[in-house]
Amino acid sequence: RVRVRFAPSPTGGLHLGGVRTVLFNYLFARQQGGDFILRIEDTDQARYVPGAEQYIIDCLHWCGLEPDEGPHTGGSYGPYRQSERRELYRPFAEQLVQQGHAYYAFDTPEELEAKRKEIPNFRYDQHSRNGLRNSLTLPEAEVQALLQQQTPHVIRIKIPEQPETVVLQDMIRGEVSFDTENLDDKVLLKADGMPTYHLAVVVDDHLMEISHVFRGEEWLPSAPAHVLLWRYLGWEAGMPAWAHLPLILKPDGNGKLSKRDGDRLGFPVYAMNWTDPVTGDLTHGFRELGFLPEAFVNMLALLGWNDGSGQEIFSLEELVDRFSIERIHKGGAKFDYEKARWFNHEYIKTASAARLLPFFRDMLQEKGGAVPEEYMLEVIELVKERCTLLTDLWDHSFFFFRQPEQYDTAAVMKKWSAEKEQFFKALADELGQEGEWSEPVFETLFRSLAESRQIKVGELQLPLRVMLCGGKFGPAVFGIAAVLGRAATRERILAALP
Ligand code: GLU
Repeated sequence: RVRVRFAPSPTGGLHLGGVRTVLFNYLFARQQGGDFILRIEDTDQARYVPGAEQYIIDCLHWCGLEPDEGPHTGGSYGPYRQSERRELYRPFAEQLVQQGHAYYAFDTPEELEAKRKEIPNFRYDQHSRNGLRNSLTLPEAEVQALLQQQTPHVIRIKIPEQPETVVLQDMIRGEVSFDTENLDDKVLLKADGMPTYHLAVVVDDHLMEISHVFRGEEWLPSAPAHVLLWRYLGWEAGMPAWAHLPLILKPDGNGKLSKRDGDRLGFPVYAMNWTDPVTGDLTHGFRELGFLPEAFVNMLALLGWNDGSGQEIFSLEELVDRFSIERIHKGGAKFDYEKARWFNHEYIKTASAARLLPFFRDMLQEKGGAVPEEYMLEVIELVKERCTLLTDLWDHSFFFFRQPEQYDTAAVMKKWSAEKEQFFKALADELGQEGEWSEPVFETLFRSLAESRQIKVGELQLPLRVMLCGGKFGPAVFGIAAVLGRAATRERILAALP
């Protein structure tokens, strides 16, 4: 059975690269009729940030990429927080020690620090471990005594002394080879009894029966140690298939996109706003900036993947249908904020007014306006085409909710005349009558009145716009009047006349 997982460490906000990893896991699971699991990798207590787990769950929810199993939903492979599984890892580390694939290391942090100062680029590995205090170098009796006295120690993987090549079949990169000569003896179990990421990820991927691992390319250097652990623990036959996803690069292609690039270049890098609980620093998110989740998700799908047809707009169902590992690129994908905005514009302009209503309602509430839903829907329908961000909905429609207090008189006065003033007075009179109301009805009335007074319609439209909106902006002016309604249109004309 296909089982995939997203395994974030709750250390802060969720970078868009993280959401892309979620997405590819999700698409593959859905397409294959498998399970998508959320596992919280919180064994590093020093980096643990309160609130980060809930934030991640909220992000997945916002994107519509709900896991089938996880700390919040449960499932039959739980617990899904590694900190709650801590007792489970030690026996595997001990087993590796018994089998000669791992060893106890008693070096204190101070001793290791001294080594680092003494030897440039010091690394605990098959060469340096001989001079250090561990169960490979100390006499057996001393090791037993140290353990008995509960001397703080870690358990490290023993990378073979004889160099060998670890070969990994990556579904995106093909065969990737690593020379064990370049690997260090990573800590598997820490002095506090907690596993490190490396041990926990292998044990949990095994126990949770993960079949495919999609994760960022930054984990590729750790992969050979993971393969060795799968082998040493006797589980290699059930090892998941690997897919290391291409990095998301800065817009200029120069290195990995970081949180700081967003601040520097003025675009969001996180899915949703994230406030650091310690510093109080806010990092902006796509959600709060006015992105529709479906646009955000569509944009992410194309960072490193395409279906080969040139199509760019895909619904989530289409993505599930078309997704294929073969079409994931090896090379990094440059992030392009303008392109992200393009996606959002496409989604907003084609969204139904009903889809946009909740955002609009919130925005209006914030501004202190209250109008019937029907009115909001008409306004949205009229302006959505002009909006790139959801927040633009307000900027393109505020005048529907308040009568102008000021007018761009300069735009009108140049060509103002007594005849025009008379025209608008007559128009207001007409509007004072009962009658049918719609865009064409108003337009016909406006045109025939202009014609009978021998004034060019083109010269009357700008004044009308300024009367209704306050300035030279907004969608088609007869459309504005249609939405405002007969009475409000009349009122605004009268209010604006000298
Ligand atoms: N906990 C790792 C992270 O924070 C997960 C890496 C993996 O998927 O193996 O990204």
